[in-house]
Amino acid sequence: MAKLSPMMEQYFEIKNQHKDEIVFFRLGDFYEMFFEDAIIASKELELTLTGRECGQEERAPMCGVPFHSYESYVAKLIEKGYKVAICEQVEQAGAGKGIVKRDVVRVITPGTVIESNMLQDDKNNYIASVVYQSNQLGVCFADVSTGCAYITHLQGENLDKQLVAELYRYQPSEIIFSSNLLNLVETMQYLKQYKKCCVELVDEKEFDPDVAQEVLSQQFGANWNDVIGVQPGQCAYLALSALLQYLMRTQIKGVERLKVVHTYSEAQFMRLSPVTRANLELTETMRGREKRGTLLWVLDKTQTAMGKRMLRSWLEQPLVQVQAIQHRLDCVEAFCGNSILRGDAMDALSRIFDLERLMTRIVYGSATPKEVSALASTCSALPKLKALLAEFGQDNVLSKLARNMDTLDDLKEKIDQTLSQEIPATLKEGGVIRDGYHPEVDELRKIVYGGKDYLAQLEARMKEETGIRTLKIGYTRVFGYYLEVSKSFVNQVPDYFVRKQTLANAERYITDELKQLESKILGANDRLTALERQLFEGLLREIAEQTARVQSTASTVAQLDVYAALAQVASMHQYVRPVVDESDALDIVEGRHPVIEQMLQDALFVPNNTHMDCNENQMIIITGPNMAGKSTYMRQNALIALMAQIGSFVPAQQCHVGISDAIFTRVGAADDLAAGQSTFMVEMTEVAEILEHATRKSLVILDEVGRGTSTFDGMSIARSVVEYMVEHIGCKTLFATHYHELTDMAQNMPQVKNYNIAVKKRGDDITFLRRIVAGPADDSYGIQVAKLAGLPDEVTQRAKKILRMLEASEHKPTSQQMDFELYEEQTAHRLPSEMLDKLSQTDLNTLTGIEALQFLFELKTSIQQ
Ligand code: ADP
Ligand code: MG
Repeated sequence: MAKLSPMMEQYFEIKNQHKDEIVFFRLGDFYEMFFEDAIIASKELELTLTGRECGQEERAPMCGVPFHSYESYVAKLIEKGYKVAICEQVEQAGAGKGIVKRDVVRVITPGTVIESNMLQDDKNNYIASVVYQSNQLGVCFADVSTGCAYITHLQGENLDKQLVAELYRYQPSEIIFSSNLLNLVETMQYLKQYKKCCVELVDEKEFDPDVAQEVLSQQFGANWNDVIGVQPGQCAYLALSALLQYLMRTQIKGVERLKVVHTYSEAQFMRLSPVTRANLELTETMRGREKRGTLLWVLDKTQTAMGKRMLRSWLEQPLVQVQAIQHRLDCVEAFCGNSILRGDAMDALSRIFDLERLMTRIVYGSATPKEVSALASTCSALPKLKALLAEFGQDNVLSKLARNMDTLDDLKEKIDQTLSQEIPATLKEGGVIRDGYHPEVDELRKIVYGGKDYLAQLEARMKEETGIRTLKIGYTRVFGYYLEVSKSFVNQVPDYFVRKQTLANAERYITDELKQLESKILGANDRLTALERQLFEGLLREIAEQTARVQSTASTVAQLDVYAALAQVASMHQYVRPVVDESDALDIVEGRHPVIEQMLQDALFVPNNTHMDCNENQMIIITGPNMAGKSTYMRQNALIALMAQIGSFVPAQQCHVGISDAIFTRVGAADDLAAGQSTFMVEMTEVAEILEHATRKSLVILDEVGRGTSTFDGMSIARSVVEYMVEHIGCKTLFATHYHELTDMAQNMPQVKNYNIAVKKRGDDITFLRRIVAGPADDSYGIQVAKLAGLPDEVTQRAKKILRMLEASEHKPTSQQMDFELYEEQTAHRLPSEMLDKLSQTDLNTLTGIEALQFLFELKTSIQQ
């Protein structure tokens, strides 16, 4: 086999260390990919596949992207589940002998991106790390782009389920874990189904306690134990340590950014099963997975990216401690009380950039001059915000919150002193450092710009001396400065011009004087570029040292932003402050569905009351026709309870919410066929979950149970579920059902109450009143609703006829009976009614043979008549 070219040798050396990644190999102004990588990338990115000599007989498949626009290409690959290793030239071209040294400077993975166009502003991007040790799970979720990590510790039964619940809460885009986790079957199933997530199996060694000791003290100092709040005997710190090691391997620089660690326990938050999150459409709709039409969509009036992310995480984890909720409500109330100050504060907030992610790029050293100047302009908006909030008065919660906010004045000053006012987009263009900041920069600029003046003077002088009108000085990278003379004047060129290059209609020359000038200008220019870069990088490092301060300001800004947004929504849509306490109440006067009321185009939303507790009003059975508004009503109650627990005002006139530890929902039509389960199976699994996990303090919504099977089966299951919930769990439950038979449960069980959604009936038509009223529905109005939906008259008329027959029959219908009764209808006209009566009264068991024959004879003659 022929020998590889030296560059290809270098390539393979690097590629061998990055087998799992697509290597972006820097070659001048391009990132090139080779071989297998090139084939994949050309397909995924729609690039032309070319080839490159590599010393072998066959050319190496190759494709490339321009270095300045690599981000969008990497973004696409990441989105498709690939990882990308960025391999740079780590020395100046031509610096040493042979080929330029190259190294991988960063591996970009879904969970570690920091580029703003690969991230969503309003969403955290988490990478998870999970360790499984002696029947415990240590879990860590980190957002590399904001420098925050959350760790927790899971133990007890159903570890897999607990873990899956955590995964749903944070929705990481990447997970790292050790191989023994493969035993947690359910978790693995989740990972298989949840395709958005990239999974890394890492070496057991990375979860080693001794290594952790070292890694963590390096990151957080010798007292890392206190910093991250590790309890003895818990293994969450191992997960954090493994995550840091992974970052060190992939990020190489900037890992120190991850400084804030929150230890949390699941008990701090309301439990929301994955199904419930989806059903309540908190942050994305069930159908389109969009934000429009969700609770987040209604509430998100935030002005900053940090606020957007915080609001989303609040929605995803409602609180369960009264005090913490009250504090949030106090802050929202303060903003509600003063719309002018609120407006001004929102205006000030809108000038604030994404401090958290800016800071990350600064720490990584990848921030552009423009981004740093955005940090300064953010800092300059802070004092105004602080002053505005002080106007709320000494003892106000908001001014207290703002009082401790660091306005980062020194950072702003430092940046303003260092950077030019007219900031260029990139460092390369030059002109980043402010005039007067650094003597050598000023000196070099004089030479570079002065030199340019001098070139102009030289050009003018030469024109005069030689009499060549078209003579001009130009510059190329390869030849440097030259004097250009068009062909027609070549005979006037003096002797000391040295010819360098011939073009179609001109000649290019140099002179000693020009050469000297050139080396002075170019030398100064190189030195200037290098010095500007050095000073800029120094500035980045200086700012990076203040990460903790910036982080804390960012967190205050985010909170203020969320409070202002919630207050804004509250006053726009007439929300009210809920009373929140430890009681078991759910009392709502004139409650509305926060999302549907915004979505309704040409109808007004009809408010409804709710009165629930854990005694006489524990189980609310709701009947009423399809489309009456049962589902809307039930969800509205769940959403109001949830909103109260995130600290938001609620769409109602009055509201009293006793803390719920969890909300469970079981809503029809969540068919999970993709996962290979039938509707009925899904339904029953969900019900089983609820019965297993709901407590007396939970709020449960059952929207139809037992629909996926035959009537008697379904009804029996529904009834026994209700009984079980009342007798064994005692949680507040809203239960919508089309089984009217269930409404009689209220007679025997004092905890059960019947409600229905009123309709007005006129002749064959019905109007939905959308009002919830006490008592069971008198009818299910299926045929009327079908008519409203546009079923042909012929079909609805016939349906009515069938219905009347069914109702006349004693038994409730099964399909067999229906066949029988249809048959009966067809034959009825031939059998006189007195014979029919006789037939049904006759007990066949007591007839003798003769009597039976006699009876048959009678029947036959009566038909023949
Ligand atoms: P059901 O579950 O009883 O079949 P839904 O709750 O799905 O009915 O409601 C059907 C539609 O009726 C909703 O999409 C909404 O447009 C409208 N609706 C429901 N409740 C109300 C209300 N309180 N005010 C106005 N419109 C409502
Ligand atoms: Mg419904």
